[in-house]
Amino acid sequence: MSSHAPESSPTASTVGHLDLVPTSTGDIPGLVAAARAAFDRGVTRPYQARIARLQALRSVLVEGEAELLEALHVDLRKPDIEGWATDIAVTVSEIDFMVKRLKRWMRPERIRLPLTSMPGRGRVIREPLGVALVIAPWNYPVQLMIGPMAAAIAAGNAVVGKPSELAPTVATVLERLINRHLPGDEVGIVQGGVDETTVLLDQRFDHILYTGNGRVARVVMEAAAKHLTPVTLELGGKSPAIIAADADVATTAKRIAWGKFLNAGQTCIAPDHVLVDRRVETEFTEALVAAITEFYGSDPSQSPDYARIVNAGHFRRLEKYLSEGRVLHGGQTDADDLYIAPTVITGVEANAAVMSDEIFGPVLPIIPVEDVDGAIDHVNANDKPLALYVFSRSRATTDKVLSRTSSGGACVNHVVYHVAAPALPFGGVGPSGMGAYHGRAGFETFSHRRSVLSKPTAIDPPVAYPPFTESKKRLIRRFL
Ligand code: NAD
Repeated sequence: MSSHAPESSPTASTVGHLDLVPTSTGDIPGLVAAARAAFDRGVTRPYQARIARLQALRSVLVEGEAELLEALHVDLRKPDIEGWATDIAVTVSEIDFMVKRLKRWMRPERIRLPLTSMPGRGRVIREPLGVALVIAPWNYPVQLMIGPMAAAIAAGNAVVGKPSELAPTVATVLERLINRHLPGDEVGIVQGGVDETTVLLDQRFDHILYTGNGRVARVVMEAAAKHLTPVTLELGGKSPAIIAADADVATTAKRIAWGKFLNAGQTCIAPDHVLVDRRVETEFTEALVAAITEFYGSDPSQSPDYARIVNAGHFRRLEKYLSEGRVLHGGQTDADDLYIAPTVITGVEANAAVMSDEIFGPVLPIIPVEDVDGAIDHVNANDKPLALYVFSRSRATTDKVLSRTSSGGACVNHVVYHVAAPALPFGGVGPSGMGAYHGRAGFETFSHRRSVLSKPTAIDPPVAYPPFTESKKRLIRRFL
């Protein structure tokens, strides 16, 4: 493993850039087999073992906080407080939420039986699936690896994690911390890119949770199909923010600017574009520009609170969008620093790439619409997004938008916050994903609901058995 300070980092880091050391493809089957052997020994199942592993995962975050924040800074120039809030604290809360409720979630659920099954007892038992695979992306590389792992562990599974090679420093630090705090056979890490993940996906898992883009999701689902492995796909999409004429424009602008430019727009649930009622367009764009300037100053490249684009490929992709509309604010770029200023564009053609691709960066197109109905039509003409945001002072308006559209999740008069409430299941719908996790939803995702019917033997009415006499038939017809 080589270690050197990143040339562009403005702050001294004790972690420094770390090159990823890919797992040897020859070792991957053995690593997965070790996880299966651990599961088969039953060591991941008991309540106390799950709690101990969850606490260990918490220690990865709490004791590793400084290292992880530095690694996030090296890979993404994530501001400390942003990294702490969105990668560390939110994941610690998620784990605490699970620890507090796990005993209750694990309790068998009593089910009322029909008369025909009496006497008897019906239960649904949540049992672990076996060995889970979690494949994480680079944008929130700690949260999106540890969060699903915690859900898999809470449900009593062994788990293998595959961090993103595009955030190599975080991936390396995570591996080190996980190996320090958790037993390597129960919780394994595979490092690498396409080659290693391809070998990994050849192995048999009992559940795969993949977070990333829809193209790779198809590769994952195809590989899973070979083993009939169920998948949870946490994908992206073009999450719209709808602004009605009666919205509180100043607060709306601040909230949208915050959610859009957090992590330089590289957030799966960032507002992708704004559909604003024409009547408040000017007022909104002025407030938006004021909010951006207030947050990041007149030169955001100097702001310690503004992240960078993950790599040159994504930088070039995003730079192209700047010429697809009129730049109303921002637009400055610096390829050497992977910097793209928080940018607002208008006058975008409906068929422009910026209106068909998921933007996933700090470029915000403003699309004026006649009214909320126009915004609803716009949303429904496109794929179901991962998130939808509606801003209005009227409950009737926000209810109308929610009832006439579909999205993975939604916020009324805010953005992004729904991801941080552990009791709200998080996931997409249609092209933005399938399945969900967070809190109980995560526990359920990695559990099998096993229906169990128990009968006593002392009573065994002969009516159910042949030969079926006329009187037996009458009884069966009456009670079935
Ligand atoms: P990425 O490039 O890091 O890829 C994600 C993972 O897929 C990585 O671990 C990578 O190694 C693996 N991978 C890449 N190519 C592969 C292949 N051919 N076969 C198997 N595995 C492969 O991340 P990304 O896809 O650029 O992430 C951005 C996307 O993820 C956006 O669309 C975003 O909206 C979405 N996202 C969704 C969520 C969510 O919670 N729903 C969260 C974050 C990001």
